[in-house]
Amino acid sequence: MDTKNLIEKIRYCNSLTSYSRRKTIPVSVGDVMIGGDNPIVVQSMTTVDTMDTEGSIEQCIRMVESGCELIRITAPSMKEAENLKNIKDGLAKRGYHVPLVADIHFTPNAAEIAAKIVEKVRINPGNYADKKKFEVLEYTDESYQEELDRIRERFLPLVRICKEHGTAMRIGTNHGSLSDRIMSRYGDTPLGMVESALEFLRICEDEGFYNIVISMKSSNTQVMVQAYRLLVQKLEEGGFKPYPLHLGVTEAGDGEDGRVKSAVGIGTLLEDGLGDTVRVSLTEDPEFEAPVAEALIDRYQDRAEHEAISDIEGYPINPFEYTRRVTKEVFNIGGSNVPRVLADLSSFSEVTIKDLKNIGHFYLPELDKWKMNDQGADFVFTYKNPIPFMLPNGLKEIQHFSNWNSQDSNKFPVYSLQEFKAAEKLHPSLNFLLIEDKETATLAQDLAGNTNIVLILFTQNRHQMPALRRAMVNIIEQNLQLPVIFRTDYQGLDSDQTMLYAATDFGGLLIDGLGDGVMMGMSEVGGRSREESLSQVKLHNSVSFGVLQAARTRMSKTEYISCPSCGRTLFDLQETTAMIRKRTDHLKGVKIGIMGCIVNGPGEMADADYGYVGSGKGKITLYKGKEVMKRSVPSEKAVDELINIIRKDGQWIEPETERLG
Ligand code: SF4
Repeated sequence: MDTKNLIEKIRYCNSLTSYSRRKTIPVSVGDVMIGGDNPIVVQSMTTVDTMDTEGSIEQCIRMVESGCELIRITAPSMKEAENLKNIKDGLAKRGYHVPLVADIHFTPNAAEIAAKIVEKVRINPGNYADKKKFEVLEYTDESYQEELDRIRERFLPLVRICKEHGTAMRIGTNHGSLSDRIMSRYGDTPLGMVESALEFLRICEDEGFYNIVISMKSSNTQVMVQAYRLLVQKLEEGGFKPYPLHLGVTEAGDGEDGRVKSAVGIGTLLEDGLGDTVRVSLTEDPEFEAPVAEALIDRYQDRAEHEAISDIEGYPINPFEYTRRVTKEVFNIGGSNVPRVLADLSSFSEVTIKDLKNIGHFYLPELDKWKMNDQGADFVFTYKNPIPFMLPNGLKEIQHFSNWNSQDSNKFPVYSLQEFKAAEKLHPSLNFLLIEDKETATLAQDLAGNTNIVLILFTQNRHQMPALRRAMVNIIEQNLQLPVIFRTDYQGLDSDQTMLYAATDFGGLLIDGLGDGVMMGMSEVGGRSREESLSQVKLHNSVSFGVLQAARTRMSKTEYISCPSCGRTLFDLQETTAMIRKRTDHLKGVKIGIMGCIVNGPGEMADADYGYVGSGKGKITLYKGKEVMKRSVPSEKAVDELINIIRKDGQWIEPETERLG
């Protein structure tokens, strides 16, 4: 795509510089309204068997108490769809009137029953009327049209029931389960995902049914963000109504990784005013999901009051396709190097050898050796508090120029713009420049042709990601190919907020191919003790690596694409994920899919290197990519078999006996 003056063609959000929520039509789901001027709705999904009525009711209540405003329950067959009535009635008896959503895959009959009982039905256009055969089929225009006619016939009864009963519908596309028809024409691309939803949307609109929400989920954050953006664009271009968006990253995993990955995808879209309801999918109990969604959403309550950011006239970034910004390598930053992690230790008046373990560098006294784990920071930013001992493992230090001694080969100076302009002495190959977004408009002139510079870019604007993106447009427009490190500096946040905010702010930029590194600043230690400050440093370091991985720009650990589990799950997802993690978490960069059932399984394997998928009670199917390697392996042997597959594939390495971390 020609990105020159792409701004003319970008209609995926109201503004790239001023916070404003995309205007959508309001959709009623019982008493809850999604879209329009209504607040963003938090939702989640149960994990107990839908036939366990009491268990489902109890779990729904826990979810409501945790902040869930809408609850999805799987209905794999007609009997579960029918049991939704018992769950609904049981909830009402206990005073809970939370709207319910039936989750449907493969079973139109179940959908048609559920649509008469619950307030909303979610269908997956990839498998509503299609049994996926994973065949590469060639479709002529004629046979493609025949397929569309077949879908229409299968789908129309549901649309009519929804219309008659006032039931809402989510057309929920999943990157991992696109139909063979879509795959044959578009591949598993963002465009394929969008077209998959539009096929069903056209049928709804032809029937005059508009009570619809749409989602475009993927476990790949780049694909997910691009697909939502493209959807908005295509809705407008196609003359469809502006339907509300349900945001989510599938199979995000658990713990910090799951939160960071969710925030990279969901937060990036929220920043541009997209999204009317949010579901964070974690491989944890569902009551842990709503608080994360709330923390992501709450950030925008007073966002519109941010300091103005100047408009963009020609947008040089393609928001629908990942392309890393071209930079010239400066020392080991930019060019084709992975994005770097800078650890900020500048607020510590004294740093000891032991402190460095918080940034992945370990001293082993018995061996008198330094070791580094997979998350060893690349640079320490010490500014005016230099480190008094020799740095290990190729770690490099960034010092204020007034402290810098040009004789030290692994220490580099940092300047403000004013200091840089007046500088008498520069490093011959690497100088850092702390630069605020507002200072970027005339940067080329200010730098006077110096090319051995890496920018550390920050902003004080509370609309942080767009302000930094705007500054990047300035930098690109001036043809500056200097690498850029993004710096955030959050004050007074708890650890969950810190990881979610950083993942949103850095993630939104990295997904658009911007940034050659990240630095989570710690300019204020506030009333924290030294220990607390060090644990903050540790959190910053792991979040920095986590964000780079979640945005798919630097792999530093094993990635687990694990589903959140639901009533279809065939094994204990949390326990199994923990067990697989224990045996494989040293396989840096390897992606392992762990799916409770086959619904998204094989498709999602496109994104994973190896897969562990429930295929029956106590039975596991193991994959390499999309290829089945072993079927129906007893679950007690499945992890060993998975490791055998990885071993045969040459990807296995023995874990170090002494784990660092
Ligand atoms: S992949 Fe997991 S969350 Fe999705 S339907 Fe299967 S068990 Fe449920």
